[in-house]
Amino acid sequence: MISAVLPTYNRAPLAFVSGSGSWLMSEDGSRYLDLGAGIAVNALGHAHPALVETLTAQGQKLWHVSNIYRIPEQEHLAELLVDRTFADTVFFTNSGTEAAELAIKMARKHHHEAGQPERTQIIAVEGAFHGRSTGAIAAAGSEKMVKGYGPLMPGFTQVKWADHDAIRAAITDQTCAVIIEPIQGEGGIRVVPDQCLKGLRDLCDSTGTLLIFDEVQCGMGRTGKLFAHEWAGVTPDIMMVAKGIGGGFPLGAVLATERAASGMGAGSHGSTYGGNPLGCAIGAKVTEIVSDPAFLDAVSQKAAHFRQGLEGLVANHPRVFEAVRGQGLILGLKCVVPNTDVVKAGYSRHILTVAAADNVLRLLPALNIPEADITEALSRLDATATDLESAL
Ligand SMILES: *Cc1c(COP(=O)(O)O)cnc(C)c1O
Repeated sequence: MISAVLPTYNRAPLAFVSGSGSWLMSEDGSRYLDLGAGIAVNALGHAHPALVETLTAQGQKLWHVSNIYRIPEQEHLAELLVDRTFADTVFFTNSGTEAAELAIKMARKHHHEAGQPERTQIIAVEGAFHGRSTGAIAAAGSEKMVKGYGPLMPGFTQVKWADHDAIRAAITDQTCAVIIEPIQGEGGIRVVPDQCLKGLRDLCDSTGTLLIFDEVQCGMGRTGKLFAHEWAGVTPDIMMVAKGIGGGFPLGAVLATERAASGMGAGSHGSTYGGNPLGCAIGAKVTEIVSDPAFLDAVSQKAAHFRQGLEGLVANHPRVFEAVRGQGLILGLKCVVPNTDVVKAGYSRHILTVAAADNVLRLLPALNIPEADITEALSRLDATATDLESAL
């Protein structure tokens, strides 16, 4: 008999009742060190006092009003993001996949309004993940996500990851946009090299193609800059944000330049919940905290400590781990044994990690994880690897 909850997830037999910082408390009262952070969502850890305070204060004032009205909390968060990024304008969603939908619509509308309605084709890269809505699965195009859901939304092609020549060859006079994660998350923590992002920007500029960055997982301070693309010194035309921006409250956003957003007038798009006062008050608090240069420097310092320790684990456990990947606190351990075995073995050592494609173990701790918890995480990962070795 089917479970009351639609069985779309392969769930671990763990349930948590509370959390604090980088720790989760399970039903049976034991503590787990959380290196998944809700898949990069709990950017400030669990129950961060400033976020609890914001949630409580706004919750007592006003949760929701329709976008029929001005929403000052939404205007404030939009201004913060415009002030701290390439963007001139922002639309708020509740999730990453909704951000993908708008990014696709906005890019197509841009060319339509510019008198080139034939420019509808969007180029994505293999291994990409942009969400689970029909447009987002058509964009990423992987067999696993699209099988049985046809007919798919037309207008997408996928090229090999970080293959400049393949992208160049795929661009035609019908190309609308290129969509890419500066660091693939689900795809296995694959960092697009800076010179590739630069080359991509040049290619898009010379062909009038819009560049869409999906920073749903790698953005919001995770790399030690507010957004990952800042390391390469290039900017997109459109950017998708979600996960970390709400710190656990469902919130997403599409950021865009004025030019890219030129087609999006009144009535062109909408969302009932997107940008409501409660979500935006929390999003603004998260954004204020993580965009502080001192906070971002601390992320880089923690990341350096963590990474060094992970390199040591790879050296000490060559039969379990092969290499460290990633940037800042979006890190991956390429595994020799099945990554899911490592995740499971970690449960016994009370450490939570997340599997990704390409047999990678994903490590996405809270951005404010204390140094002591990083040391503890390294020691638990070491013990986990030792457990696995003794079973080999
Ligand atoms: C998680 C993710 C999405 C989808 O976000 P949802 O909130 O699950 O819809 C899109 N892009 C990337 C890069 C992601 O990691």
